[in-house]
Amino acid sequence: MSAKTIFLNQPVYDYLRDVSLRESEIMTALRNETAGLEMAIMQIAPEQGQFMTLLMQLLGVRKAIEVGTFTGYSALAIAMGLPEDGRLIACDISDEWTTIGKRYWQLAGQSDKIDLRLAPAIETLDGLLNNGQAGEFDFAFIDADKQNYLNYYERCLQLLRPGGLIMVDNVLWDGSVADPENQKPDTCAIREFNSFIKSDVRIDISMIPVGDGLTLIRKK
Ligand code: CA
Repeated sequence: MSAKTIFLNQPVYDYLRDVSLRESEIMTALRNETAGLEMAIMQIAPEQGQFMTLLMQLLGVRKAIEVGTFTGYSALAIAMGLPEDGRLIACDISDEWTTIGKRYWQLAGQSDKIDLRLAPAIETLDGLLNNGQAGEFDFAFIDADKQNYLNYYERCLQLLRPGGLIMVDNVLWDGSVADPENQKPDTCAIREFNSFIKSDVRIDISMIPVGDGLTLIRKK
């Protein structure tokens, strides 16, 4: 058998969480509240959140951007890894969903670090670029509407400093990207994004099978 990633059946996945997850009670409560929503599938897995917090600490991130905040679990995971004076600009269009997040950011003592921008993310990102903030950010997390992934990526790449990291979520899209029969617009958009990234000489990349597939992109 060739080397490959282990298939996480339920007992192995439960074990992984059991021996490694250090989720706070507040984050568990946010995850549970979100699980009751119709769009609950949009929330990242808790082990992915913990991975993101660790990456923030490892990279010493001070200024971060999130495109697609939903109910705020990933924003909270990012904020937890930032220093006291760190800032996350969180982009979303839903007042309803982010209002849930704001409550938990407050409870977790992280709300001062999170600057929520309720507007189409392209407008927010263009606003930052027009304000002369290109090259000022250390990290960006892209996890919003899939058909705009390339638009978000290009803007985040400009906003990032050299050596900064972009993390892109759902790049395996529940496996549908590997099914040639699946020609849904979101699936095609993610395929297009993935193949564009592979040959982009401005960056270094690694795609990892965490959650629904995660690509780590380092700006050269
Ligand atoms: Ca996602």
